[in-house]
Amino acid sequence: IRKLSMGNVAEKGENFEACGSRIMVFVRLRPMGKKERENGSRCCVKVLNKRDVYLTEFTNDNDYLRLKRLRVRHFTFDSSFPETTTQREVYSTTTGDLLEAVLEGRNGSVFCYGATGAGKTYTMLGTVENPGVMVLAIKDLFAKVRERSLDGNHTVHLSYLEVYNETVRDLLSPGRPLILREDKQGIMAAGLTQYRAYSTDEVMVLLQRGNQNRTTEPTRCNETSSRSHAILQVVVEYKTRDASMNIISRVGKLSLIDLAGSERAIATDQRTLRSLEGANINRSLLALSSCINALVEGKKHIPYRNSKLTQLLKDSLGGSCNTVMIANISPSNHSFGETQNTLHWADRAKEIRVKGCEVNEEVVQVSEGPDQTKLLLELQEENR
Ligand code: ADP
Ligand code: MG
Repeated sequence: IRKLSMGNVAEKGENFEACGSRIMVFVRLRPMGKKERENGSRCCVKVLNKRDVYLTEFTNDNDYLRLKRLRVRHFTFDSSFPETTTQREVYSTTTGDLLEAVLEGRNGSVFCYGATGAGKTYTMLGTVENPGVMVLAIKDLFAKVRERSLDGNHTVHLSYLEVYNETVRDLLSPGRPLILREDKQGIMAAGLTQYRAYSTDEVMVLLQRGNQNRTTEPTRCNETSSRSHAILQVVVEYKTRDASMNIISRVGKLSLIDLAGSERAIATDQRTLRSLEGANINRSLLALSSCINALVEGKKHIPYRNSKLTQLLKDSLGGSCNTVMIANISPSNHSFGETQNTLHWADRAKEIRVKGCEVNEEVVQVSEGPDQTKLLLELQEENR
């Protein structure tokens, strides 16, 4: 019984408080695709020392042999992944620690940002042979829950939702659009399916089914829309006893987000911003850039309410949460403008400070008395 006291749990959790102070920003460069090689693309991005990113601007000359270097820009991030980086390396560097914190009752979110084709879905979902962050996080989660089954009771609930054209939809149980509501715990989508999950295999099936429900562009019917944002929420509840034998519950939420393509949607100057708004181009990503700007500039009012996506990400951007951004980029000089834009926003996001990440904890049942034998039996039953 003493082993379950709060003191011990809190000590474990302390390791993770340090990562609560600012957004961690990572960049992942994908390999050159076959089509790009065939159309004479030249590599304009280099990642060195797992930190530095060099972006080369070439003259606007269509003749491959006559391309000349105009200038080279240098960026640094918490880590930068060269094209040879494996899915597991990306997962363990960006999300591994976050998952530990979620198991202790803290919130965490990881979002992939970048132009269409830059590797966001590959990073988040991956393929059957090379599963991505969502899949590896779930595997890791169930392994850790099994390891800790003697310390208390864990339950895992999943939700998978999509924001498309300012409409929120449940990917696990498609139907009418969901309405966002704000309560004490933050923003939630009313009626969203909370699926109780017991094993990795079952989750894989759910994710695949959910992905098939993602909106596809009418013109390109086999392709998932580059304008849809997918959010996987994993809620882990951990029940244990504190020193006075009260039952306490800690709830950690992990949000894994595959954002819509950022091309055309994020403008760096106000004039383009307004013209894009006029054209009603991905309002959620525009709102995201406004929120990032307001947070970096330390503004009092952060315009979360401007879009569904920013409402849903409110906790992750300015709340009590460990937040990770993975900026995905292509190596091709044909994507230079998009890559430059992505690196610009990733660089800016580095400056966002978030509040220290607190443990979400409450007493759910007050102890009835010091009957140690009864408690021991109850705990054994719970563990079973
Ligand atoms: P996005 O979701 O950003 O539009 P995708 O993840 O669909 O982009 O990636 C575009 C293409 O590049 C896909 O065919 C994908 O399999 C491939 N790809 C992306 N990243 C990698 C990578 N790190 N290694 C190998 N192939 C990749
Ligand atoms: Mg995608």
